Amino acid sequence: MTRILLVEDEENYRAPLAFRLRRDGYEVVEAGDGRTALRAFQAAAAPGGAIDLVLLDLMLPAVPGTEVCRRIRTVSRVPVIMLTARDSETDKILGLETGADDYVTKPYSYRELIARVHAVLRRSREAAAPAEPQEKILTVGRVRMDVERHEVTVDGQGVTMPLREFELLELFLRHPDHVLTRGRIIEQIWGADYVGDTKTLDVHVKRIRAKIEVEPSRPRMLTTVRGVGYKLEAGQ
Ligand code: CA
Repeated sequence: MTRILLVEDEENYRAPLAFRLRRDGYEVVEAGDGRTALRAFQAAAAPGGAIDLVLLDLMLPAVPGTEVCRRIRTVSRVPVIMLTARDSETDKILGLETGADDYVTKPYSYRELIARVHAVLRRSREAAAPAEPQEKILTVGRVRMDVERHEVTVDGQGVTMPLREFELLELFLRHPDHVLTRGRIIEQIWGADYVGDTKTLDVHVKRIRAKIEVEPSRPRMLTTVRGVGYKLEAGQ
């Protein structure tokens, strides 16, 4: 059973969320402040009791969420999703710096939260699995990439791709039909320590669309999953 540590000081948020997570089959450990959260996390380190995912409110009394995340990161790679109060760029950058894997901005829908929980858990399991030898030729729909020769063709026509665009497209081609969260993409392409403007990702996506889409302004291959990230549609 997947065990989630839910850290949220506001009972009005925590109780209904814990209820729905349990109803969906998750085991939930609740903590109302940062200190309790860190204690619960350490206590769970015993065999068979480990936490699989942390849902962490940023605004907590005494020990703030960023500090809780930082301390967890010193001992564990457990996935952390930050619950931020505002859609503020500062909060997101703060979260990235402390090592969170993703964010959900309040008010969020339960569906949106669960989509991110699934994505982050899948990624964490993939990371734990032994690496498979990687394909060198990637083909999805009209796009073909020769990774070793650093060549991309669309409908057989060669297109030029600077390194970041190439790496980003490679990431999508390796995960067709998977929603890739912004946090995951930024970590994989720009590195976990990236603290720049998250708009950089959108700019790169736009450039790739200009090269692979029939109608770049109405993308059908590289689609936006609102509030989550992007997806490469294999059927296009
Ligand atoms: Ca709070």
